[in-house]
Amino acid sequence: MIPKQKIEKGQYWDDSLTLMSGCSRESEGCENCWAAAMASRFPWGEKYARNKKWTGIVEPNWKALKKLEKRAVSTRKLKPKVWQIWNDLFHEKLSDEILDNVMRWCYHCQRMHGDIFLILTKRPQNIFKPGWYSFDRAAETNHIYVGVSVESQKYIHRVDELIQNWPGKKFVSIEPCLGAVYLSSDQLAALDQVIIGCESGANRREPPDMDLYDMVFQCRKAGVPVFLKQWIKNGKFVKMPEYFGRHWDQLTWNIEKGQYES
Ligand code: SF4
Repeated sequence: MIPKQKIEKGQYWDDSLTLMSGCSRESEGCENCWAAAMASRFPWGEKYARNKKWTGIVEPNWKALKKLEKRAVSTRKLKPKVWQIWNDLFHEKLSDEILDNVMRWCYHCQRMHGDIFLILTKRPQNIFKPGWYSFDRAAETNHIYVGVSVESQKYIHRVDELIQNWPGKKFVSIEPCLGAVYLSSDQLAALDQVIIGCESGANRREPPDMDLYDMVFQCRKAGVPVFLKQWIKNGKFVKMPEYFGRHWDQLTWNIEKGQYES
């Protein structure tokens, strides 16, 4: 279960894994990429990012992959966690072999320890892996969530690609929100979770304030859990802001643990 203190800080996961080093810009939402900023701060990231921009080198992160594999094959039951997978696992430069292994290990972690995985991508066109045993098993668990980032309506097609290509649990992250995102009733019916948040950091771009109401209430009307992670309130950046008299801290992956409140 994700501790309350983490949720109050806008964190909807317990722990994270960076299974690939590096990434590359896909769209406007990548402009102030947090992962690129992190990589350019530390010597280990020099090869992958400079001045907060990716160099274009993308490689498997063997250390993190080993950690996941070790957990997957552990015969000792470990405390279940909600894992967030950083960078874009569906990046073209990551080999099928690695992806196949990751899905298999996630499946085993789920079965053995009850782990949940959140895999967020801006490249849903690369999710489709027909006939892959690992994908079918991972999707069947209903504990491996694949999500798409949609920073504005221009990228709404990612939701349809997600629905088409991933048969398991699905979520949409409207973060960084650079423009209002309206989901159709068919899209909402297929989704298990929506996360909304403005951009953070020193160079953050302002969110479309007028449209927050519509974005939150379209989900509420359709019964899709909403997590309002961060927004600008009275000119200030606020984590988990109160909106319409409450915090929007619904997380479907906490339902079974009794934390979810409608
Ligand atoms: S896809 Fe994600 S990790 Fe990759 S550049 Fe864009 S924001 Fe950064």
